[in-house]
Amino acid sequence: MRTRTYPAAAALAAALVLASCGSGDDDAGDGLQVDASFYPLEFVVERVGGDLVDVGGITPPGADPHSLELSPAQVAEIDAADLVVYIPTLQAAVDEALAVTEPAAVFDAADASGVTEESLAHDPHLWLDPELMEGIAGGIADRLTELDPDNADVFAANAEGLVADLQELDTAYADGLADCAGATLVVSHDAFGYLADRYGLDQVGISGINPDAEPSPARLREVGAIVEENDVHTIFFEVITSPDVTRALADDIGVETAVLDPIEGQTDADADYIDVMYANLEALQAGLTCGG
Ligand SMILES: [Zn+2]
Repeated sequence: MRTRTYPAAAALAAALVLASCGSGDDDAGDGLQVDASFYPLEFVVERVGGDLVDVGGITPPGADPHSLELSPAQVAEIDAADLVVYIPTLQAAVDEALAVTEPAAVFDAADASGVTEESLAHDPHLWLDPELMEGIAGGIADRLTELDPDNADVFAANAEGLVADLQELDTAYADGLADCAGATLVVSHDAFGYLADRYGLDQVGISGINPDAEPSPARLREVGAIVEENDVHTIFFEVITSPDVTRALADDIGVETAVLDPIEGQTDADADYIDVMYANLEALQAGLTCGG
């Protein structure tokens, strides 16, 4: 008896292993395959989609999304996705890939955030404004619901949780920077325009919208003059893009430097979008010259 049941049990166990592998693969295949063009959008899709989506990031961690280049395999992945989430104009490579591929659905996060085409054309860095992120969270929930209507309640509840976190963040910024209206915010590149507008700061970017552009000596002199005129004591640089120019300028004019993260990628796996936004708020409170 034992000699007969043993192989049967072994066969059953083997079958179960196979079945569980199979169902594991099926789970992966059944979850919506969402490609998010860079980290802040990955964060929103993960929060809203939860376990029901498989999120792939198009921009590798630590890479600069502005100058991203795509491999043929990545373009094929975009083509095969159930949903691609992106911000038009931020990444030329993604715009170009979407022009030659046919993913099942495409989500324009800029449109969902409510920014006008005109402001998008001027500046794509809308994820640094928590209120604009709220629009993206709601829009993602709607789009995921279209693709998977059975889970509408899950997406709605997840989006609600994210929106509550974003509202709390917004309140913390509004309160934390209440005395800073009109303060001059000197940054490596023009990533903080929407944030500056929302909380009444005056952004001065050293390199412009694209961090790869080298500022001219004339621009550096200009920024130096603004720093002196406005009693700026700290200028901010970034984690991903090279801070050399910012540091050299700070040394030159004798001011401090601090890190302000434009969250163009996730630089620390233990700190998500919300965590980094709070860290940025602390850096702003410490570094800006605010009234009392
Ligand atoms: Zn940027």
